[in-house]
Parts: sequence; C-alpha cells; structure tokens
Amino acid sequence: MKVLIAEDEVISSRALEKSIKDWGYKTIITKNGKNAWEAIKKGDIRLAILDWMMPGINGVELCHKIRQEIQEKKSKYIYIILLTGKNQQGDIIAGLSAGADDYITKPFSFLELKVRLQNGERIIELEDSRLKLASYDSLTKVWNRNKILEFFKEELERCRRENQSTGLIMIDIDHFKRVNDSHGHFIGDAVLVEVASRLKRSIRKYDKIGRYGGDEMFIVLPDCNLINVKKIAERLRRCVSEQKIQTDKTDLEITLSAGGISSEFSSLASGDELIKASDRALYSAKKKGRNCVVILESLLPRKETHREKGLSL
Ligand code: GH3
Ligand code: MG
Repeated sequence: MKVLIAEDEVISSRALEKSIKDWGYKTIITKNGKNAWEAIKKGDIRLAILDWMMPGINGVELCHKIRQEIQEKKSKYIYIILLTGKNQQGDIIAGLSAGADDYITKPFSFLELKVRLQNGERIIELEDSRLKLASYDSLTKVWNRNKILEFFKEELERCRRENQSTGLIMIDIDHFKRVNDSHGHFIGDAVLVEVASRLKRSIRKYDKIGRYGGDEMFIVLPDCNLINVKKIAERLRRCVSEQKIQTDKTDLEITLSAGGISSEFSSLASGDELIKASDRALYSAKKKGRNCVVILESLLPRKETHREKGLSL
C-alpha cells in the first residue's frame, strides 16, 4: 500500500520515509500541501500522513479538500493521519472535524505511528472488501449491474481521452427458461455460474464482465475496435457452446447470443446510445436464430426494441 507523506521539514520527512519504507509500505514524499494535493488527485493513494503546518495549503485544509473534492466523486477512501505539534484539545477537534481519521502529536514515537498506520491499513482493507462485496453479483461472482455500468462509463471516458475505442458485448443465454422449466432453478443457477465462469476465463485480463440482468452478461472491452469485438464475441459464444455444461443431474448443451459494438464507429455516441445499440445487435442475433453473434457497425436510427425503453446509464 502507498503512503503519502506531506511534510515540509526535511529531517522529519526523511525519518518518516525511512521508517515507513522499513515497515513495508511504498512512499510518496511531498514537501508542501500543493504537491500533496497534486499527488492525491492522481488517485492511487489510500493512506496519507499530513503535517498540519505546511506552506501553501496546510494539513487541515488538505483534509477538507480531500473529503470534499475527492470523496464526493465516489473515489476510494483515503485514511488520513494528521501530524501536528499542536496538542490543545481545540486543535485536535479542528483536525478531526476537517476529516482526519487520526492524529499524532510531535514529538511522537515511531512505534506509535506504526501502529496507527497499521490501523489505517486495516480500515482501508475492510472498506475495500466491503465495497467489493457490494459490487459483485452474489450468484455468478462477476460484477453486478451497477458496477459494470460504472466501469463502462469510466472506460468510455478514459478511452475517449486517449483516442481509443471501447467495445461492448451484450450476451444472453438462449432459451434459458427451458433449463429452469425442465431441470429446476437449482440447475438453472449452476448453468448461470458455469457460463459466467467460462466467459470470465475467456476475456482479456483488463476486460470486465458483469451480470446485467437474469441471464444477461455485459462485457466491457477497453481499447477494442469493431474487428476485435467481433473476434472476442465469437470466442465467447464458442466457449459456452463447444462444451456441454455438467450439472448434478445431466450434461446440458447451452448456447448464447451476443450483440456487440465499439465506440470506434461513433466517437460522439453516449454510453446509453452504445448500450442501446448493443441491445439491438443482441436482439438481431436472437432473431437470426440464436447461437450467433451480431456486430453493429453504425448507429443508424431505427425503431426501438421492447427492451430499449427506460434504459439509463
Ligand atoms: P431467449 O433465447 O429469448 O433469451 O430465451 P430465454 O428463455 O432465455 O428468455 P429470457 O432471456 O427472457 O429469460 C431469462 C430467464 O432467466 C427468465 C428467468 O426465469 C431466468 N432467470 C433469471 N434470473 C435467474 C436466476 O438467478 N437463476 C435462474 N435459475 N434463472 C434465472
Ligand atoms: Mg435468454
């Protein structure tokens, strides 16, 4: 875990850096509030030790900024330890009210700092695992709908900034109701789990998969043009259809239909428009007879499908 140290006194800063590295953390050293703020905005800092007295933005002001400007954007929690020579009760209350999680008064014992840092790390880890649980689909263990839509939106923005295309594949299992009707919900659940697991294993490391609804999966493909969306969608279709799914009762032949698009064909299309387009492509795949892939190559206006209404990102 990375620890930001914002301390303008060189000797104190060096001592902090050495000890914190010795305890197994990575460090980022800044000498004033402004630089600390720049480092925090980059986004991968989870633990921060801020000196109260610094030129420019002081530690308490920085706490305010972090809580107001960073946490408002739903960024991950940053655990803040305020380092201060002030030990009046009023000062401590001001620091904690500004959003510091803990404080330590100078001169301090390094052992005490280590324990407080470890507390912070434990809280960050708890927070991360809680967030992860809230973002997963409990049955299939892929991302849930909210989370995958969030990834999609972020990815679309990132790819646009970097002049890349985002691919999107919408997948729906064919005749899944029949599985439930013939073999029961328990077997239906097992099929869903296995399909999700095969899809997950068949995408690239930086692609993301989520459960969009009942038997629908939503796959986000960073930096992916139409040709690659098509290749990946075909691979995903095959990874399910080519091998029967074993269940407690029987082995089942399962197929899926997929609709894909890439922002490559329309750099201005909104997230909603792209989702609607992939949904249209999926609808076409179903109409074509299922167990196939349809890739849309333009965003030409056409009649809405029954599922497009009320879709929002
Ligand atoms: P189509 O080929 O047109 O997609 O036919 P389908 O039968 O798969 O139809 P549809 O996709 O509309 O139906 C999805 C079904 O998935 C409906 C619902 O009974 C079932 N389902 C949704 N969530 C779950 C779940 O968590 N477990 C199980 N076992 N079934 C689910
Ligand atoms: Mg289906």
